[in-house]
Amino acid sequence: MEIDDHAEELASDLGVDKAEVKADLENLVEYSVPMDEAKQSLRRKYGDGGGDGGPSARNVADVAIGDSNVTVTGVVLTVGKRSIRYQGEDHVILEGEIADETGRISYTAWEEFDIEPGDTVRIENAGVREWEDHPELNLGERTSVEPAEAAIEVDATIGGDRNLADLATGDRGVNVEVLVQEVETKVIDGRDGETTILSGVLADESTRLPFTDWDPHDAIAEGASVRIENAFVREFRGVPAVNVSEFSTVDVLDRTVEPGETGERLAIGDAVETGGRFDVEVTGTVLSIRDGSGLIERCPECGRIAQNGQCRSHGEVDTEDDLRVKAIVDDGTGTLTVVLGRDLTAEVYGGDVEDAKEHARDAMDKAVVAEAIREELVGLEYRARGSLSVDDFGANLEAETFEPVGDDPVDRAEALLAEVGE
Ligand SMILES: [Zn+2]
Repeated sequence: MEIDDHAEELASDLGVDKAEVKADLENLVEYSVPMDEAKQSLRRKYGDGGGDGGPSARNVADVAIGDSNVTVTGVVLTVGKRSIRYQGEDHVILEGEIADETGRISYTAWEEFDIEPGDTVRIENAGVREWEDHPELNLGERTSVEPAEAAIEVDATIGGDRNLADLATGDRGVNVEVLVQEVETKVIDGRDGETTILSGVLADESTRLPFTDWDPHDAIAEGASVRIENAFVREFRGVPAVNVSEFSTVDVLDRTVEPGETGERLAIGDAVETGGRFDVEVTGTVLSIRDGSGLIERCPECGRIAQNGQCRSHGEVDTEDDLRVKAIVDDGTGTLTVVLGRDLTAEVYGGDVEDAKEHARDAMDKAVVAEAIREELVGLEYRARGSLSVDDFGANLEAETFEPVGDDPVDRAEALLAEVGE
């Protein structure tokens, strides 16, 4: 539409003189105000006749990327609080989801609005931005958030209580009750210099997930059963990870959280389909051993694989020898690469790094190590448990355990069940 058409539409909606509206519109557009926003501000200037928010009131399901000022009424499902750095400044933001009868939508609030899960609120003048391919409400200075006249009923979980297995990357304002299975203190080079953080593994009845605590809480100690409130979920090495921040609370529970069985057993096809799991078990036949297996060199700076003394990031380096296997495993439903680290590789090879170096020196060929591993593994059935990540290049399982499936009838039955998808 041309400016003239917009002015025509506005003038007729608002019952004011078209020439006047057009002059105002032209003025705003000249100052680079987007057309939608310009029209909204003129609606406000001339007083919008619509009693309940006028033309900008939307159902949640109708909010679209590209909308500017919208008004929605919905129930607050979750409220997460966190500090982010934006354009060089720290901001405390609120984020979560709201829902009405038509659907749910995430929001980010740049002001500390007084909202709690379960509140029905009317949000006026929210911006809309794109977040992970979905529209998201952006609540800023010009937005008002007021209690709605009447509560509305929604078909959605109110509050942030979740099982670990239900968490997905991007979730905010979540609460979990977990056993701290592993915890390690790390010093990292953060945005404000050296920072101490905690990282490790949490478990509940449903599954296990990695976590990071950016503002170490004393209650997070190995073996403790705790309730963590106001955590958010970010991807870490291809799986969702629980992030605990300065705004999270951690309280010791007066019960012990009993973790479920480790390693959810899945057919490989189903495992790959999940897009990544922290703790999964698969059984399949080793089809082949990929390049980069056997005796390898790593950059001492970054730990990545180096070729002929060259690291892709650090150039020529004094490399360290290491052992690794990348085995292609198939169970008839799918294929993935099982990655064995130094210890598991030493087990299947039957020797450590020093043995492998001696082996390579004697043969005057490094490839003999991978060859020995190939002979040991290919064609046999193995059970692998570990962390699965899936990306455009394929599916990788970083193995924690890797064991041959024996002639034991239980093993065979389990392998068969996994194959038929149980
Ligand atoms: Zn490097």
